[in-house]
Amino acid sequence: MIRLENVTKTYGENKNALDNVSLHIYPGEFVFIVGDSGAGKSTLFKLLIKELEPSSGEIIINGQPLVRMRRRKIPMLRRNIGVVFQDFRLLKDRNVFDNIAFAQRAIGISSDREIQKNVSDVLKLVKISNKYKSLPDQLSGGEKQRVALARALVNKPKILLADEPTGNLDPGNSQIIMGILEEVNRRGTTVVVVTHNHEIVRQMNKRVINLKNGVIVNDIQEGGLAR
Ligand code: ADP
Repeated sequence: MIRLENVTKTYGENKNALDNVSLHIYPGEFVFIVGDSGAGKSTLFKLLIKELEPSSGEIIINGQPLVRMRRRKIPMLRRNIGVVFQDFRLLKDRNVFDNIAFAQRAIGISSDREIQKNVSDVLKLVKISNKYKSLPDQLSGGEKQRVALARALVNKPKILLADEPTGNLDPGNSQIIMGILEEVNRRGTTVVVVTHNHEIVRQMNKRVINLKNGVIVNDIQEGGLAR
């Protein structure tokens, strides 16, 4: 589902941010990527969403090599990957419904009825249906992240990538977000979460890939930290 083969990323003349990393994430897995600041987590994340290109190596997602991918194939890649960020990245001047509907229109769905159905389904999944008319500024951090999750999920991606999704949230809201991610994974989506939050990683008991200085130092199948 996600495969990295000997991936190296160097920024300018610096040392390698990722150093010859090989990694395989299988369909239906739930994987945490952890590591101290500067370990290479963001670099890996940006490579997966094709925001960066590797200096060398191959990245294959859903059977498609990302390096040298033809431009016309990129929308299809993005359609199959839902992305969530620490800082939510909602459109401030649109309400919850429109933020999520935007993602549907971006992939060419134009039927209002279809959009209405899909947005309503995904709002139920993230348990925030009553707030569909609110603007982002009227929501708490936890609610904003649930809307961001709904937006990432509305196109039914095969893979969900989350970069520090609980980074701005208190423990209670972090639990809620993790519960939703677990449900999404249970329904068949492959989930990859980059995080600093050791407490959550410990609780969730999933595969943990530990990066240090651009290298995978640990890849443990279940609950890899502090056992
Ligand atoms: P993490 O997300 O684990 O904190 P990063 O992927 O952001 O780690 O960084 C890995 C290494 O790459 C660090 O040494 C960092 O300083 C360096 N780095 C990250 N982004 C850039 C950049 N745009 N230019 C130069 N160096 C960078």
